[in-house]
Amino acid sequence: MMAPSDKHSRGVLARVAGFLCRPASAFDANDPPAAPQSVALVPHIEREAGEPDLLLPQIVIDQQVFTAFDHGPIDLSELDRSLAADGAFFIWTCECRAPGCAGRFGGVRVEHSNGIVRWHDLDTRHHYCFRLADVTAAFDAVQVAARQLIVAHPSLLVTPDQNIPYLGGK
Ligand SMILES: [Zn+2]
Repeated sequence: MMAPSDKHSRGVLARVAGFLCRPASAFDANDPPAAPQSVALVPHIEREAGEPDLLLPQIVIDQQVFTAFDHGPIDLSELDRSLAADGAFFIWTCECRAPGCAGRFGGVRVEHSNGIVRWHDLDTRHHYCFRLADVTAAFDAVQVAARQLIVAHPSLLVTPDQNIPYLGGK
């Protein structure tokens, strides 16, 4: 566990950096990051014998892949809405499209300020921090990459199905 003084000095650093980071509560998994993290969205093909191949968007934060297996696939319709407004969004969901099926009941609380977007995952209690421009670029890029994959592999099943308007396919 971090000493309170460390937590305090990190909070001061966050304010110096210009982010309105609230201190983490005792229940949180990490402190709000003091600087924006790198973010990418990648289309992932999930293959299982006897099942159709699934195309799922996964998020990569600071070079760490948040796999659909561990975290659930990204719901691009929820991410889309989160780019434009504050609120709680089920950015991670289940392959069947119901976030509760993946144990997600709170969603991600999203707050925008000055080109920075902060996420607080109310289910895992993790904090994230990005430049809005980076999330938007990732959101655009995954659509291009997925559409190319679908052209090459037309049998891919876009999952969850609310991603179809963004990724094409079926
Ligand atoms: Zn499900």
